[in-house]
Amino acid sequence: MQRLLMHNPIAIAALWIVGYLVLTLFPLLVLLVYPAPVGRGFWIEFSVALGFIGLAMMALQFVLTARVNRIEASYGIDILLQFHRYTSIVAFVMVLVHPIILFIVQPETLQLLNFPQAPWRARMAVLGTLAFLAMVVTTIWRKPLKIPYEPWRASHTVLAVLAVGLGFGHAVGVGNYLGLFWKVVLWSAIMLVSLWLILYVRLVKPWLAMKKPYVVEAITPERGDVWTLALRPLGHEGFTFEPGQFAWLTLNITPFSMREHPFSMSSSGERSDRIEFGIKALGDFTKRIQDYPPGTKAYLDGPYGVFTIDRYWDSAGFVLIAGGVGITPIYSMLRTAAERKDDRPFLLIYSANSWEDITYREELEALKESLDLTIVYVLRKADDDWQGETGYVDRDLLEKYIPIHRGSRHYFVCAAPVMMDTVERALFDLDVPVTNVHMEHFNLA
Ligand SMILES: Cc1cc2nc3c(=O)[nH]c(=O)nc-3n(C[C@H](O)[C@H](O)[C@H](O)COP(=O)(O)OP(=O)(O)OC[C@H]3O[C@@H](n4cnc5c(N)ncnc54)[C@H](O)[C@@H]3O)c2cc1C
Repeated sequence: MQRLLMHNPIAIAALWIVGYLVLTLFPLLVLLVYPAPVGRGFWIEFSVALGFIGLAMMALQFVLTARVNRIEASYGIDILLQFHRYTSIVAFVMVLVHPIILFIVQPETLQLLNFPQAPWRARMAVLGTLAFLAMVVTTIWRKPLKIPYEPWRASHTVLAVLAVGLGFGHAVGVGNYLGLFWKVVLWSAIMLVSLWLILYVRLVKPWLAMKKPYVVEAITPERGDVWTLALRPLGHEGFTFEPGQFAWLTLNITPFSMREHPFSMSSSGERSDRIEFGIKALGDFTKRIQDYPPGTKAYLDGPYGVFTIDRYWDSAGFVLIAGGVGITPIYSMLRTAAERKDDRPFLLIYSANSWEDITYREELEALKESLDLTIVYVLRKADDDWQGETGYVDRDLLEKYIPIHRGSRHYFVCAAPVMMDTVERALFDLDVPVTNVHMEHFNLA
């Protein structure tokens, strides 16, 4: 069994799902071993079950966002966060339907909404649900509501703790199913683990990062409005990583501030003494990168991610598809492959605005000397004398270049969301097995 798990990532991923289901349905199992209060009827019991499952799912959200490397290694951060988003909505619907059923079956319970006169257990339910509602609304409509990322992230944590804490307080206050001491202990343990995970991400991880600082060695401009930020470990060995992975970067402030940003490493995974990132100047933080002088303190939390050729050592070669700054993890894959003298064929399809905007253009051309590398540049705006491809990376273009034996290679795609969607659909239409296509999304929220 242990051998099967060690060598089979799909078995491990499936095991995490089984674990998730067991923990979510745990409240129901507890209900089954407890004689239900007499005469309450199916709908009341059903509504209570929804409330408990919703609460357990909410508590489990902290596990999904705690950057547990073992869980992330099975799915990748984007799939995990996607799962977090959908399961939160399911939990929210359950938490909302729970009182609605009660109000329908026992209309007198509507009085519990009279906040000043309601008992504390009901007040906690109302406040917890409002916190949950605020969390869902500010997350789904963060961009239309123009909420900047960092205040959103801070409020998201506070609202999550409030929603789960108040929900648990409500369940204990009602007491029907948590009347027995051992059940309260069991549920308190679940809540404490959730709290610990928050403390782990907010306090323990920053504390660990503080013990392993980095300094900015150089910040250099690249084509395409990208800056290379090179960091050197200070008093420790740094870390090696699988090319294509990313780390959370904190620059010039304490890691406890939680103002960290994810960036893919662009340097070779074989080198831990100098870690580089290619950062596109886009927003508040990234536009200021160029202003930090060498010597500035930095902290890294990583490496993370499953977008890496290292997981597919048996692949006959690789097709790498990049758009704009999406080249950074792919550049790292190529640099690492060159250093390892990897002799497999690499095809890079790279879309950029113009010839002048192609980030790492000269470096990529130089890599052709040490790698079996073919590069197809696809330009949006090309001069009249441009002989190469123009327009978008779509089905026709991919069909022209990708190998006939589609399943023999692994495909790595990193670009703007629209291009990623187009390429994903096109590869599917071209019969590339879905298990061979790997995507890295730069926009998590
Ligand atoms: C796995 C991964 C790898 C990435 N690799 C690179 C890379 O190699 N090069 C590169 O230029 N960019 C990369 N990014 C994107 C980069 O993290 C964002 O562009 C950057 O954080 C934006 O910050 P800002 O304050 O300059 O922009 P803002 O204008 O404040 O934000 C723009 C958008 O970026 C996202 N964002 C902002 N702050 C954060 C944050 N702290 N954490 C997560 N998302 C945030 C939000 O969706 C926000 O709407 C990567 C993102 C991810 C998820």
